[in-house]
Amino acid sequence: MPASAATKTNLIGLDRAGLEAFFANLGEKPYRARQLLQWIHQRGVTDFALMSDLSRKLREQLQGLAEIRPPRPVREQISSDGTVKWLLSESGGSAIETVFIPEENRGTLCISSQVGCMLNCTFCSTATQGFKRNLDAAEIIGQVWYAVQSLGTERLGQRRVTNIVFMGMGEPLLNLGAVKPALSLLRDDLAYGLASRRVTISTAGVVPGIDQLSSGDEFALAVSLHAPEDSLRSQLVPLNRKYPLSELMAACRRFVRARPRRSITFEYTMIEGVNDDYRCARGMVRLLNGIPCKINLIPFNPFPGTPFRPSTDEAIYEFQKVTRAAGIITTVRKTRGDDIDAACGQLVGKLLSPSERRRVVQEQLALQVLTA
Ligand code: SAH
Repeated sequence: MPASAATKTNLIGLDRAGLEAFFANLGEKPYRARQLLQWIHQRGVTDFALMSDLSRKLREQLQGLAEIRPPRPVREQISSDGTVKWLLSESGGSAIETVFIPEENRGTLCISSQVGCMLNCTFCSTATQGFKRNLDAAEIIGQVWYAVQSLGTERLGQRRVTNIVFMGMGEPLLNLGAVKPALSLLRDDLAYGLASRRVTISTAGVVPGIDQLSSGDEFALAVSLHAPEDSLRSQLVPLNRKYPLSELMAACRRFVRARPRRSITFEYTMIEGVNDDYRCARGMVRLLNGIPCKINLIPFNPFPGTPFRPSTDEAIYEFQKVTRAAGIITTVRKTRGDDIDAACGQLVGKLLSPSERRRVVQEQLALQVLTA
């Protein structure tokens, strides 16, 4: 009896070890895993019948037991700057966004690890949606599979994915069980074959997660800092109350100590009048002292209902001058895909008027003082 669709294993989410275990259960040799990896991830084949180097018997057996099910596209938008945003449908009716950002000599794919997020960072639009669920490994790698297949077509100019960043929805270090096999597929030469420095995990500062990653060397780490001292950071990133800066920075030091050739990227969203003054810049220099790192300044992307505004270009420049003078490589992230709401914190609908904004900021700050 063939298994029903609901019980079929989706092979797209199994890494080499997972596929080897799957085939061992069927009494097959481990090299079957290598064949399947290439069929699925390099040739983009989802139909077992087309896998010509498997025996007919095995193909039929696989059809009964397993499937190769990528996410379904719901919508595709292409920005005037070439950025592509897909809305992909996952099982259970959830949808997630995946963004491709082409640059002169690379193509970065920004992927999600959860549907929604539970961390409630006050300046992030994902927080307004709440947390729905973790994505599984098939759903995480499925975003890459889908983007690679679509970008390989004439229609999208046959562009290539050269870099992956876990900077879409969700906190990857709170879903490590699914993120780890996805990382292993990104690295595997028979799947996506990406060098470790081309895959970046971005975290709001989940200390045990950073430590769990400390043994491997499969990716680059980005830490979303946004403030150099605890009281301000706890307002922007409530997770800071659980893992304050002293613990987070200690974990970062352990991370680089375990990887002598690695550095960490610290992300810093620049919010006008909140975290963008000289004192904050000096605070960052002190905080990062001795850690091999660079800083990536992200101008805040407004979204409906937010009281915050992006820092001025001048404030960003002044901030950058301070950290650079201290010898820290500091870049400013270009905002991409604005016209299709593809930047971090999507720009949709109407923004608040200045007086409404002042009122909301005051209310929020009063609330935070009360709850801190
Ligand atoms: N949870 C992870 C990854 C997702 S967010 C993390 O916190 O790192 C990816 C990056 O975008 C983070 O640095 C986040 O702080 C930033 N970000 C979120 N909303 C933003 C906004 N509205 N404007 C600018 N950057 C934003």
